[in-house]
Amino acid sequence: MLNVQKIREDFPALNQEIYGYPLVYFDNGATTHKPQIVIDTLIHLYSTVNSSVHRGMHQLSIQMTEEYENARSVVQYFINAAKREEIIFTGGTTGSINTIASSFGEAYISEGDEILITAIEHHSNIVPWQLLAERKKATIKVIPMNDRGELILDELDVLMTPQTKILALNHVSNALGTINPVKEIIEKAHERNIPVLVDGAQAIQHDKIDVQDLDCDFYAFSGHKVYGPNGIGVLYGKEEWLEKLPPYQGGGDMVSSVSFDKTTYAELPLKFEAGTANYPAAIGLGKALDYITSIGKETISEYEKTLLEYATEKMSKIDGLKFYGTSKNKISTLSFLMEGIHPSDTGLILDKMGIAVRSGTHCAQPVMTYFGIDGTVRASMVFYNTKEEIDRLYEGLIKVKQMFQ
Ligand code: PLP
Repeated sequence: MLNVQKIREDFPALNQEIYGYPLVYFDNGATTHKPQIVIDTLIHLYSTVNSSVHRGMHQLSIQMTEEYENARSVVQYFINAAKREEIIFTGGTTGSINTIASSFGEAYISEGDEILITAIEHHSNIVPWQLLAERKKATIKVIPMNDRGELILDELDVLMTPQTKILALNHVSNALGTINPVKEIIEKAHERNIPVLVDGAQAIQHDKIDVQDLDCDFYAFSGHKVYGPNGIGVLYGKEEWLEKLPPYQGGGDMVSSVSFDKTTYAELPLKFEAGTANYPAAIGLGKALDYITSIGKETISEYEKTLLEYATEKMSKIDGLKFYGTSKNKISTLSFLMEGIHPSDTGLILDKMGIAVRSGTHCAQPVMTYFGIDGTVRASMVFYNTKEEIDRLYEGLIKVKQMFQ
């Protein structure tokens, strides 16, 4: 069992008041708060070790390099990658997807090729592919979804053609909370030799991720959504792919030798890490992942399931509240609208009661277009949230309703 009150003490940002009310933070899908261990790590690194990695022969640089490379191993074990060389540090999920769209796209996409995505992607997993498709005169195809916000997999056989060169899809939808059956989809894609990139931005903090079991070719996630620092993310890639792909960016650290005639590239993973890395954030991310491991991924997802059930049941009692994203297989995120009330109004009024939710399109405009709405209100809950906070949301929504009656 999770001792939530004790866990909350680890997150200083949770212990504050907004407009005189204790904060209820339900915007975890956008970013999560950081445990003290992550904050302390950043303060410690900047106030002592602060030195560039892989470059210096002096003690501080050696120490920082060791900690940075240790963080890489922590990520490797966290997602069960076969090799540490398969872990590339990037700026975030967006950076990871752009790395593959650019690098893979350069080498493997030509005129007439097809890139397969889904109807429930975040803009980060749409726009990089559109830019690539424009550059290469390729076509984007889209796996559709149903009214529950689930992918319609019957169409996969038709959508995957000999021209399909890559499939990019999210593990969990940020706008609706749907958990996609990525393992099954990857299997089908691999039957046709189509590599798969999984956007794990909303999955990594809720469930156990095993990239070898999924057999995905690439997996992307952001540090700040998994209790780590901002400005750091991970791109996992199978070694065989990362070896074959050209570097994404050129610069320091990603080279083995440079002359005006010819440059040779560094071995993995540095081949994909041009420039001075955000090593304090990478090390902070390692601490965040260790923190989660110490609590237990299964324990976290079990608890979050109870929050989802409780919130769904409670909010279903509100007359005129409609949920968007009603798949049985969901993370603890609720997307909804109150009849006749704009989501921004709901969000603004809740804020005045100290309740932080997200309102808008959640960077998933095609999802909103599908439902014919401007946006939704999204309450995304994680393991430091409580049933009492859900009660506060419920009461807040009742007040919002009364104000508009
Ligand atoms: N993909 C999904 C599913 C997301 O939810 C997000 C952020 O909300 C992103 C990608 C982009 O993440 P970042 O802005 O950290 O790069």
